[in-house]
Amino acid sequence: MKIDVQSIVKQLSLEEKATLCSGESFWETKGIDRLGIPSITMTDGPHGLRKQEADADHLGLNQSVPATCFPSAAGMASSWNCDLVHEVGEALGEESQAEGVSILLGPGANIKRSPLCGRNFEYFSEDPYLTGEMAAAFINGVQSQGVGTSLKHFAVNNQEHRRMTTNAIVDERTLREIYLTGFEIAVKKAQPWTVMSAYNKMNGTYCSENEYLLTNILKKEWKHEGIVVSDWGAVNKAEESVKAGMELEMPSSFGAGTQRIIAAVQKGMLSERTLDESVERLLNVIFKAASAQVTGVTYDREAHHQFAREVAAESMVLLKNEQQILPLPQNSHIAVIGDMAEHVRYQGGGSSHIHPTKLDSPLQELIKLVGDQGNVTFARGYDVDLDVAENKTLLQDGMEKAEAADIAVLFVGLPDRYESEGYDRDHLHLPLNQVELIESVAAVQPNTVVVLSNGSAIEMPWINKVKGVLEAYLGGQAAGGAIADLLFGVKNPSGKLAETFPVKLKDTPSYLFFPGDGDRVEYREGIFTGYRYYDAKDVTPLFPFGYGLSYTTFEYSKLNVDRKEAADLDIIKVELTVKNTGKQFGKEIVQLYVCDVDSSVSRPEKELKGFEKVALQPGGEKIVTFHLNKRSFAYYDTDLEDWHVETGEFKILIGKSSREIVWEETIHVQSTQEKVPTFHRNTTLGELLQNPKTATILKQLQDKMGTADDVEPSDSISGEMLEAMMKYMPLRALIPFSQGKLNENGLDQLLHQFNEAVNNNKQIGGLSRK
Ligand code: BGC
Repeated sequence: MKIDVQSIVKQLSLEEKATLCSGESFWETKGIDRLGIPSITMTDGPHGLRKQEADADHLGLNQSVPATCFPSAAGMASSWNCDLVHEVGEALGEESQAEGVSILLGPGANIKRSPLCGRNFEYFSEDPYLTGEMAAAFINGVQSQGVGTSLKHFAVNNQEHRRMTTNAIVDERTLREIYLTGFEIAVKKAQPWTVMSAYNKMNGTYCSENEYLLTNILKKEWKHEGIVVSDWGAVNKAEESVKAGMELEMPSSFGAGTQRIIAAVQKGMLSERTLDESVERLLNVIFKAASAQVTGVTYDREAHHQFAREVAAESMVLLKNEQQILPLPQNSHIAVIGDMAEHVRYQGGGSSHIHPTKLDSPLQELIKLVGDQGNVTFARGYDVDLDVAENKTLLQDGMEKAEAADIAVLFVGLPDRYESEGYDRDHLHLPLNQVELIESVAAVQPNTVVVLSNGSAIEMPWINKVKGVLEAYLGGQAAGGAIADLLFGVKNPSGKLAETFPVKLKDTPSYLFFPGDGDRVEYREGIFTGYRYYDAKDVTPLFPFGYGLSYTTFEYSKLNVDRKEAADLDIIKVELTVKNTGKQFGKEIVQLYVCDVDSSVSRPEKELKGFEKVALQPGGEKIVTFHLNKRSFAYYDTDLEDWHVETGEFKILIGKSSREIVWEETIHVQSTQEKVPTFHRNTTLGELLQNPKTATILKQLQDKMGTADDVEPSDSISGEMLEAMMKYMPLRALIPFSQGKLNENGLDQLLHQFNEAVNNNKQIGGLSRK
């Protein structure tokens, strides 16, 4: 039955409308029985369900119902597998239906600006394109089950330090290219039912009151059809939020928000029409959510656990495999060392902390896989609650067991207290007792492999001392089984890093500006985040973005771009063949980057614009196809307030990682959008000389007045210096330097002539301008 929301809104009193704008409880919206308005439940998110039946909180403190804990976003993104992430979404949607949850609070699409951010484990990547594709796949998966999502935290919420009051100062181009693109892709491709506004301020205005973000960009430019919900407790002044385009305050503010909205309408500071429209949008989502709820849904917990194991295996990244130490031979004597082998760190702290249906222990899973053939010994190695070993008994035991075995597998990682929602790290190292264990074991056992459980990049000063490193991230409840599968080669590692691992903290892009001073954090590194920075500064990372090893090998061939000359509105097809040249089934992630060869604005050396994960049997091959469009070549032009492609050459780079480009092709792209400059008295002569039309006028002027050419190079001034000085001279300087031949009137006429010349020049290369 079609519900006439507009007529319902007409029947609501001002008080009722204001009441609806705030939650009923911690997790539920308000219902109004009189008009059949239901209440719906929303709950965290993102990689599992945190439905609380008793005491509610947003910090992950109180118990929630059992649910499958999938790998957190940092891991999921390392799979680079959109289909898999879509399936995770479906599974989460199914569990939400089973628990009567209408909206799952996720995914998180914030960019990893610094590896220090305590919540990086909940975010996908340092790259906006990868983030957007992952978020869209996740949202489409969940919503295919009739359950909504909340794309969060909109926007520029890239640190936990002072997260509820910090003011992120970010320039428009950086905002668009880095911090909003992931959200934009997700909104356009997947239409999340809700978007969650962030706690922080952006350029001086709270995101929950930011009309530019919530209305101009999200609703008008991107055409978001759903509603904006506040992050929990993010609302500053409820009436300002309604004005800015935020429909729902969560959780309930126990009448505080409602009273402010009523007062604002009564005082004429908020129009009732704006409130009506807001309530209408809210009710549309509430009715849609309520009608999509299905009763009696159950799910197969064991099947979801097995699926979580599959996802975890695809999310882990093999970082080092010297002398092919991995996969482990099953019949060898393996010393498993480290507290995390028994109690693996599989999820992060805070609002995403869930109660798993089941939990694998890596140690037990390894023993199961070895079966009767093998010999596994175990030592705790360190106390996970300590940073420094107080006595050396655990370490000693670890070293002895390692020395006596053929291979040592060390389970280390960041303890819960090191990274969580609510605060950031201030260093990138493992606890010192764990570092001591790695170094001591490696000194007595040359065959040492390290398995890492952490939500974000760490420093590895010990890397050269060990033969193998598996980055397991926070792999969810089945991480233990997945680690065992990868270590023994039951599964072939196929993840690649969705973030750069730096050698040291000081190498990171935002090092000097993170987390800011007081409440002010300036994003001074601009568009140079993640690999964009390491490339530009030529800083060698420990492991680059897009990097990951496999037990098999892949070869790329028959690379082809369907045209060498294109217009920016064309769709360009790039194809190549990928072959598994090894002996094991494997999956390869092919990456496509674009480089603007010669740009008038500063641009990254390369930017990810396509990726594809292909599964191949030994000897098998597949054609991988990419389609590039205008956005693949564009930067955000703040004068045009639009995406713009500068006519010129672009390289299309195909890589196995951001630092292993195996093929490149240069094409010429012609812009269909002319950037018409406006000349003014401070425009330089050099700028005028760049444009053929204005260059001609300038030349004529020069002939008439005999300016630059009259000055001869001398001993103290070379021809180059003279040329450079002329190039950067503003037009107005011709008045004093023309010996009275040009006056203010003449300058005005000249400017008029220059502007006329470019404005009449509306055709470029046979293509009309915007
Ligand atoms: C977090 C959100 C979360 C909400 C509800 C907030 O503290 O920032 O991500 O969805 O709590 O638990």
